[in-house]
Amino acid sequence: MHKKIKGDPHKNKRFQRLVNGNGQFAKRRREKLVLDILKNMWRRGIKYQMDEPAYTVDKHVPIIQDYLNERWPNEYRLSIFGQRGRMRPMWKGTNRARQEICLFLKNGHYSPIRFISNLFGAPYCMECESTYGNSIDHRAKCVSILGKMNKF
Ligand SMILES: [Zn+2]
Repeated sequence: MHKKIKGDPHKNKRFQRLVNGNGQFAKRRREKLVLDILKNMWRRGIKYQMDEPAYTVDKHVPIIQDYLNERWPNEYRLSIFGQRGRMRPMWKGTNRARQEICLFLKNGHYSPIRFISNLFGAPYCMECESTYGNSIDHRAKCVSILGKMNKF
């Protein structure tokens, strides 16, 4: 993970397109990229132990977040959700980013969560780490907005 991606200008171009592309297709490709990184780590012998998910997530997901931060600052934030129904993510990138990449960890395998609200059956706020009923009400008390106001 500490090595830079190098060589092959074709691959690099494809990579740029993948990263900068808009829309659902590009988004799905990016999710796949993150999953591939995780799979590669697995292949290299960095394994996620089923009985210690918190330990391994805490140890390895930050490396991937660092990589994303370094390569595309402020662009992606990773969140890992575990047990279904538990609203707080097992792990979440500290800094807010333009796009959220939510993954669901089950039995040592990651899968992308395409719509986080579907997971909980209600609109979900990544900042508050909870669901809400009414978006206007929520906006009034959302921690991200309150946080912003405190800054000024
Ligand atoms: Zn909120």
